[in-house]
Parts: sequence; structure tokens; C-alpha cells
Amino acid sequence: MAFLNGEKLRQIYQRAKAGGYAFMANNIAEANVLVGLLKGYTERRSDLVVQVSPGAAGFAGGGDKLAGLRTLSHMVRVLGDQYPIGIFLNLDHFTVKEMDLIQEVIKGSLVSSIMIDASKEAFEDNVRISHEVVQMAKGSGILIEAELGKIKGVEDEVISDEAFYTDPDEAVEFIDRTGADLLAISVGTQHGVSKGRDVVLRTDIARRIRDRLADKGLAVPLVLHGTSGLLAEQIREIIHYGVCKLNKDTRYQYEYSRAAYDFYISHADSIIPPAGVPDDATGLFSGSDWSPKKADFDPRTVGKLVRARIKQVAMELIDQAGSAGHTLLGIN
Ligand SMILES: [Zn+2]
Repeated sequence: MAFLNGEKLRQIYQRAKAGGYAFMANNIAEANVLVGLLKGYTERRSDLVVQVSPGAAGFAGGGDKLAGLRTLSHMVRVLGDQYPIGIFLNLDHFTVKEMDLIQEVIKGSLVSSIMIDASKEAFEDNVRISHEVVQMAKGSGILIEAELGKIKGVEDEVISDEAFYTDPDEAVEFIDRTGADLLAISVGTQHGVSKGRDVVLRTDIARRIRDRLADKGLAVPLVLHGTSGLLAEQIREIIHYGVCKLNKDTRYQYEYSRAAYDFYISHADSIIPPAGVPDDATGLFSGSDWSPKKADFDPRTVGKLVRARIKQVAMELIDQAGSAGHTLLGIN
């Protein structure tokens, strides 16, 4: 059984924190990225954290988020069982709008952890909402991640138009009052595509948050969102200051589209009819001498290329995070 619960997830983050490495938390919405990740993580002998945003849940469920989560949770379990590593599933950026959904997810034990994002609310409301979710999850073995301080850019269904750094003193009060298991902090990363040189990263704030929490006996693992634009040395520094979960979504989205684009552009002639041939997909071009190449238009052809690309990128990111060789399944 490769799918593991929140208590095991707590263990891998604690080990990572003690060992000075981190785990990437990789967003998925369908099977191609998941299969690529499983192959890459298996080759590097690292446990794998995947996560699903509300938007991805809706996408996977054809508009029904709960159906999407059930589908993806099942897929993660069934596919994960075939690989000799631990796999964890996290809900990414669920908000106060999704409280009923969160309840269902906890009831069905669909995930290992849940992120409740009330970071755009006022501090007191953020505390109240995050605490409510912690209470809902009590006894379920599911970890709760909460966020304090906004992240510049567009989070899934959460718009924040200004960057706010997390206040270390507020972080202590926040963890003390909410009882959250993980804390997502804001230290200047941007969500979405950003270039490393444009990010005003305040790693000193991460260090202060870590130290302040440790002083009060509240040393929860720290989480950093919006890391797709960070340089490798910035990642190393932030891990050094106690971040053990790094969210990764945008990079995979780009690589996915790029792999598909590169293939279709270079194989346009075997999919698109040449000038003079009627564009007759209805009859699959039976009225002309030209016909498209099935081997090229079969979506599995591009799907395999996407999986191979995701596998490569996953291994590159594992090397950045330092999680290679770290799995609870004891196969090192
Ligand atoms: Zn995020």
C-alpha cells in the first residue's frame, strides 16, 4: 500500500526538517502528470507529495469538485500502489467557500493533508476559519496546512493584489490559536510565472519565523508557495531556514504544454491536411489521397511524451529539494 496518511506525512516533513532537505508538493489534475511524477520519484527513490487545487478538482470532475476529488484520490491510490515509494495527497488552496467539500473529504479519508487558505481574510477571521478546519480534521489522521500573509499573484480562486510578508510574531499567535500542523508563509515569492531575479525573496523572514516558533515550542514545518520562479540557490537557502514543503505547479504546466506543442508543430503535416485537400474530419479524409497518421494524432503519443518530460522535470526538482533516497518504505 503506497498511499500514506497524514501521520506518515508528518514524519516525512519532520525528517526533512531535521535532515536539511524538503519535498516538492506537485500539482496534478489528470493522469499524465501523475504517471510522470511516479516514474521520476521512483527513479530517485523519494516519497511523493501530490496536490489538487479546487480548480483542478472541478476540472477532473467535469465541474463537480467532489467527484473530481474522489476520482483523483482513487487514481492516486491505485496507480501509487504500483510503485515502491510512499505517495501523499494534499488539497491545495481550499477556502472558506469549500467547507462542505472539506467535510466530505475528511469523512471519506480521501487525502493525507488539507490546506485551508483564509490568508486573504483579516487575521481574526483567518484564525477562526483555520481553527475550524483543524477541529473538523481532529482524529482523522489528516494534517492541516494554513497560510498567513498573502502571496503576490493569482492563487487558484484567490486574488491578492499586493505582496505581504508574514509577521513572525503573528505566526506564533496563529499556530498557537489554530493548532495547524503546517504553516504556509509569505516571504516574497510570486505565484505563477516569475523570473528569479524579479523576486524580492526575504529568506531572513523565514529564518525568523522558524526561530520564533521553535522558541515557543510550536516548531511546525514551513511551506512555501509560488516557487516556480525561484533559482536553485534560493531554494537551497529557504530549505536551510526550515521550509520543508515547496509547492510546484506552474513549471509542470509549462513543460506539459511545451512537450505537446513541440510534437504537434513538428508533426503538423501528418495531422493537418495540405493545401487543396478538403478539411474533412467527418469522413476522416476518405475522399482524398491524403490521410492523417494515426500514430501521430493518437493522444497517447503526446501523452507519453508529456509523461517523459514530467519525469525528467520531477527528477531535476527532486535534486533541488534534496529528497532523493528519502522514502518511508525503506527501499534505499
Ligand atoms: Zn499556493
